[in-house]
Amino acid sequence: MDSEDEKTISVRDSKKTALRNKLLTTFYQEGTKSIPDLSDSLQLSIPTITRFLEELAHAGYIIEEGEGFSSGGRRPVLYGLNPNAKFVISVDIGRFIIRIALVNLRNQFIAPVRIINEGLSSQSDILQLIKQESEDLIKQSGISNDKILGAGISLPGLIDIKTGISYSYFTAVGKPLHELFKEIFPFPVFVEHDTKAMALAELSFGLAKGKQNVLCLVLGAGVGLSMIMAGKLYKGNSGFAGEFGHIPVADNGQLCYCGKVGCLETVASGVTLIQNARNGIASGASSKITDLTNNNPEKISLDIIIKAAALGDQYAIALLSRTGESLGKGIATLLHLFNPEMIILGGELSKAGNHITDPIKQTLNQHAIARILRDTELVTTELGENATLMGTVALVINNFFTKGADFPKL
Ligand SMILES: [Zn+2]
Repeated sequence: MDSEDEKTISVRDSKKTALRNKLLTTFYQEGTKSIPDLSDSLQLSIPTITRFLEELAHAGYIIEEGEGFSSGGRRPVLYGLNPNAKFVISVDIGRFIIRIALVNLRNQFIAPVRIINEGLSSQSDILQLIKQESEDLIKQSGISNDKILGAGISLPGLIDIKTGISYSYFTAVGKPLHELFKEIFPFPVFVEHDTKAMALAELSFGLAKGKQNVLCLVLGAGVGLSMIMAGKLYKGNSGFAGEFGHIPVADNGQLCYCGKVGCLETVASGVTLIQNARNGIASGASSKITDLTNNNPEKISLDIIIKAAALGDQYAIALLSRTGESLGKGIATLLHLFNPEMIILGGELSKAGNHITDPIKQTLNQHAIARILRDTELVTTELGENATLMGTVALVINNFFTKGADFPKL
């Protein structure tokens, strides 16, 4: 065979791989489909689609899923990913909490999410904790390691995309994060910054799907931001883009944990909100928070403050309102800079609903240019508290479906 023939075959093979990957990605992001649907959306003939589906079914990735609707004539057979063909382990590492999930190819959690009440701020060996809990979760689910596509890991802080090194956590080790995590997992490891993982989930199957310019805010312990620009996740030159929580906005002179003074997080983060609640109650503020925590200030959490507000507690509502106003001022800056079509609010604080979105909207009305504001939708994530976990699952599965040229037979 001369080299021209080899070239023709390799072009043909790469086209086949691309098509196979496209089909699997479509099933992953959009669920079940019929052959005519796929033929329409991928602009390919029915015999071509049929042939590829047969091949993927034979390899164990695709199964029949009943029948779809028909506008007349025979109802078309629906196909979908075989949920149990492969699994992903997803680890969301926060400053105070670690969440671990085992998810199948249909994004279904096959066991309750494991929660470890330790995090990057604790003194424990969290790598060992993650290793033990993950092994236990996999073992209890009765899944063998060869069925696991990989581990998707998310964490906050500054992660250099060129080297994979974190400048915020595990700094003493000096190793790229994926190498560090490879030591505790016997399968491929993918690491992403936590707010970027959430944006990836929104882009793959959330409210940002099909949209071009979207900002995702994660309102939790801190204030995270990730940007989808021209339909893609924007990471900046080194991967540090989106440190919104550390823009200087407050004249309060308060020291932020990042080492600077007056950051947005010193007035608008979950940690600050909890601290404000503790201070206020210690100074005699009357609130349902006191009852909900059995008069133990240590037990005050975002969840408790949100619960109190939902019960109509004026003090909790005022605390959330103040946080929302500070956030609103920051978001007004983002609107002016990026002119997004949508801003998605996620993270634990977004569960406060109107108690947080109303003050944000009011502040935006005050501080944002009306013409820009009119073009932007402010919404709350529909992916719930698992958005970040789902993002790293998407990272692992997309990587497998786009780069996995040779699909192992199951
Ligand atoms: Zn800061």
